[in-house]
Amino acid sequence: MSDTFSILATDGKARRGQLMTAHGTVNTPAFMPVGTAGTVKAMLPESVKATGAEIILGNTYHLMLRPGAERVAAFGGLHKFMNWPGPILTDSGGFQVMSLSDLRKITEEGVAFRSHIDGAKIMLTPERSIEIQHLLDADVTMCFDECTPFPATESQAAESMRLSMRWAARSRQAFRERPGYHQFGIVQGGIYRDLREESAKTLAGIGFEGYAIGGLAIGEGQQEMFRVLDFTPDFLPADRPRYLMGVGRPEDIVGAVSRGVDMFDCVMPTRSGRTGLAFTRTGELNMRNARHADDRGPIDPECACPACRHYSRGYFHHLIKAKEMLGPMLLTWHNLHYYQELMQGLRSAIAEGRLAAFIAEFRAQRASGETGED
Ligand SMILES: [Zn+2]
Repeated sequence: MSDTFSILATDGKARRGQLMTAHGTVNTPAFMPVGTAGTVKAMLPESVKATGAEIILGNTYHLMLRPGAERVAAFGGLHKFMNWPGPILTDSGGFQVMSLSDLRKITEEGVAFRSHIDGAKIMLTPERSIEIQHLLDADVTMCFDECTPFPATESQAAESMRLSMRWAARSRQAFRERPGYHQFGIVQGGIYRDLREESAKTLAGIGFEGYAIGGLAIGEGQQEMFRVLDFTPDFLPADRPRYLMGVGRPEDIVGAVSRGVDMFDCVMPTRSGRTGLAFTRTGELNMRNARHADDRGPIDPECACPACRHYSRGYFHHLIKAKEMLGPMLLTWHNLHYYQELMQGLRSAIAEGRLAAFIAEFRAQRASGETGED
């Protein structure tokens, strides 16, 4: 046990824990809603909190380009700027530089690229990424890394991972240690067991407050992701939190928790809310579908969120068809509520030693219902 992370209970490989940060405690397994550009899209911060979320994710790449990290710092940091007093984890910007910007050039020093907003030429290095995350006042800072693309040969994955490990050492050098502020290393290595082991051990040798598993959920498929998760967590220090980046669907999260992962983030509940998709215990519903037009029942009769307590499926169908902004707002709230309730269910099940039964029930319900309508 460390003063950063306490494990309260285990069930198989799954862990029920608590991550202590400068802005509060995070109960794990935890799902982090994504607040890309200083806002969880379509949600007030107090609404995000009401769903049960204890920590959110901010994107370094977006915030460094607009409004700029120094400007956010002048406003007292990201917590004050966006009125979210709770813990914040920021990514390193590396992943989005690769996926969003133009004219990238990767060298030993870092990544040179052009902003997707105004074409400005920018250099992002491990040192600058960590400085930006410091200016944002992130409770959890991520190492600057290269997300190895999929597919990659073993030698490509090795070369990419070893660059990320050299950047991880530089990221740690640049990190300013303060009580309640943490930095996570990121394990790379693609789908290759030996490379994942080498990466995990290199990072553990540098020493971080937590460890992320990167380079998954990028097209390899759930089966292959679970295969990598069958061994990767075992290479990491048992007393530190483990964060699976960019994951995922409810089924992915449940499978990863049972394999020893503690933290998650994904745009899925928020992005789906904006396109009219509602997550439920019995599967996903597309509110755009005409069969909902005359349905006076709620999205999920057992859900306690405002969307389900006060509004009908027919009303959501209307809002989405009419492109009214209340539709995405309420569906995002519902989806985040669903995700947080799932995490609460997983935490309780681990604490009570009944995770296997919880997962069996979760799978039976998700398979029973209204999925597959689109
Ligand atoms: Zn609901």
